[in-house]
Amino acid sequence: MKIDCKTIAEKMKEEIKKKCAGKGLRFGIVQVGDNPASNAYIKGKMKDCAEVGIEASVFKYYEGISQESLREKISFLVNSNTLDALIIQLPLPEQLCLEELVDLIPAKMDVDNLKGTSPFIPATPKGILMLLDYLGEDLCGKHLVMIGRSRIVGEPMAALATGRNATVSICHSKTPPNVLKELCRSADIIVSAVGKRDFIERDMINTAKRQLLLDVGINRNDEGKLCGDANSEIYDIDTLDYTPVPGGLGLMTRVGLLENISSLR
Ligand code: NDP
Repeated sequence: MKIDCKTIAEKMKEEIKKKCAGKGLRFGIVQVGDNPASNAYIKGKMKDCAEVGIEASVFKYYEGISQESLREKISFLVNSNTLDALIIQLPLPEQLCLEELVDLIPAKMDVDNLKGTSPFIPATPKGILMLLDYLGEDLCGKHLVMIGRSRIVGEPMAALATGRNATVSICHSKTPPNVLKELCRSADIIVSAVGKRDFIERDMINTAKRQLLLDVGINRNDEGKLCGDANSEIYDIDTLDYTPVPGGLGLMTRVGLLENISSLR
């Protein structure tokens, strides 16, 4: 069954709006260049912020900006006392070193946890935990298969699920396909953050038990439409609960970021 993340996200935003009321929170997004996907993500973040009462600003710099100039701009922003939170929209052009720029953002403003040590759960795992809580999905004793081990999704998600007493299998590009398949078939929850369409196929799903598939992947199909890591042909498996793409974890990620900002002050 499809999980209606759209309705769930709207309900969560109502709660976040109440938390933000009267705080006058100010959120900044640093963007370099004019990447169409980044423009779309930023548009979504601005809309969300407006809905819950967070004042959001985009600081957009030209594609060829040097590391030194961008350092100066970010230093100015974080020291200007005009922002509560700041993120750097990825990807950055090749001439820029993200690690060095992230160092300039104080941990208390780093709501995307780009540093890896800030007191915020990165937005996608945060949104996933909020969804699991909403669904009443207790991870204790469950087998969760995390496919992908990136710093912003797979790695923190695996650690958080372990913290909630799930038994976690972490799979990556060197996991043999037959091992991945068997792990998925034994899983209670599969989180896929690979970024390859039709990656989750029917033979990886176990129709003899209820499974939850959380599809983080964002890909394009032959018609250029957005799709996740799952082959949509598996959506008719009636023992499978799944998040669709679009209208799934992208919305929960946005809610995760809002929740992090709303916790400030
Ligand atoms: P990365 O693109 O950084 O990494 C992909 C991961 O998939 C790597 O860990 C890689 O393994 C693993 N992988 C690649 N091929 C295989 C394979 N054949 N079998 C098993 N694992 C494999 O991951 P991100 O987390 O940044 O992004 C993943 C996807 O999620 C992308 O489509 C991205 O666009 C999307 N995304 C969506 C978000 C949302 O809001 N919905 C937020 C963030 C990302 P290895 O480590 O060995 O290279």
